Amino acid sequence: MKNSIFDLTKPELEAIMLNNGFKKFNATQVFEGIYKKKVECFDDIVNISKDLKKFLNDNYEIRYLDVIEALKSEDTNKYLLSVRGSTIECVLMSHDYGKSICISTQIGCNMGCKFCESGKLKKIRDLTPGEIVLQVLTIERLENIRVSNVVIMGIGEPFDNFANLVNALAILTEPKGIDLGSRKITVSTCGIVPKIKDFANLHTQVNLAISLHASNDDLRQKLMPISKAYKINELMESIDYYISVTNRRVTFEYIMLLDINDSEECAKELASLCKGKLIYVNLIPYNSTSDSQFKRTSKERITNFYNILVKNGINVVIRKEMGKGIKGACGQLKASYEREVK
Ligand code: SF4
Repeated sequence: MKNSIFDLTKPELEAIMLNNGFKKFNATQVFEGIYKKKVECFDDIVNISKDLKKFLNDNYEIRYLDVIEALKSEDTNKYLLSVRGSTIECVLMSHDYGKSICISTQIGCNMGCKFCESGKLKKIRDLTPGEIVLQVLTIERLENIRVSNVVIMGIGEPFDNFANLVNALAILTEPKGIDLGSRKITVSTCGIVPKIKDFANLHTQVNLAISLHASNDDLRQKLMPISKAYKINELMESIDYYISVTNRRVTFEYIMLLDINDSEECAKELASLCKGKLIYVNLIPYNSTSDSQFKRTSKERITNFYNILVKNGINVVIRKEMGKGIKGACGQLKASYEREVK
């Protein structure tokens, strides 16, 4: 099997060019051909030599992902894509500012968050950098659009696939390639503390979101097994580090679960965690599934929770719901597909 050309960062391709008797600038020509001119085969890159075309044809392929299923609603499309015998999903959302896409980083996920459909699908493997990037490229090509924002919040824990994530970010932001602004990308983690520090040390402008979902350790440990490894105070210390190094705001994702984490007490605890920090809270109405142990918090309760945060001077929004009726929760499309084919 040939390697995917989409797996390579530009510096990696430059090194391959030099090691095989070609010139460093040939990597730029290949990147521009693939990502800017969107050629379908190496022979269509007009400004490279026959020898280089042969080398590329012999060793690499330009292959997009196959779309198995697409579910569409007014503002949201959900896609099931195939990656070498497995499936992943991504979600395209239309906003007034443009199109954003939520992409996956692993096939399945080992983090086991109790409220998450993806957490029920055990990790099979990490996605390669190319497979992460190709979700964006495949959907742009399919829908004939340009994506303006990328959210790395789909199936998988991005920081559990750190090296491939970092390379995928390099490919997405490469000026001679896709050239997506770093500030247009958000990576979401369930809170792998050492990796948050590593991420800070990359000094990128990529946004960081934390799946917090609970305001104290007891509650968080019931919802998210990762919090047995890293307590909230360790998590907050890594976030302080991230903010001090990058001076970038961090988003806290907080799924509202009825009678679990939606009390006034929780709102006050969450406010005190965020107070005085460059943190923005995103309250997310829960998308219940038929077999879920959790229920959705009412609008009134969410508004009450929101008001407590506002009163405490916290920047907070209630996330607009999108994709209702098309298996909106992360992992639902893949989970239902796998149930059907089993
Ligand atoms: S919320 Fe994210 S980290 Fe947790 S199980 Fe789901 S995909 Fe994995």
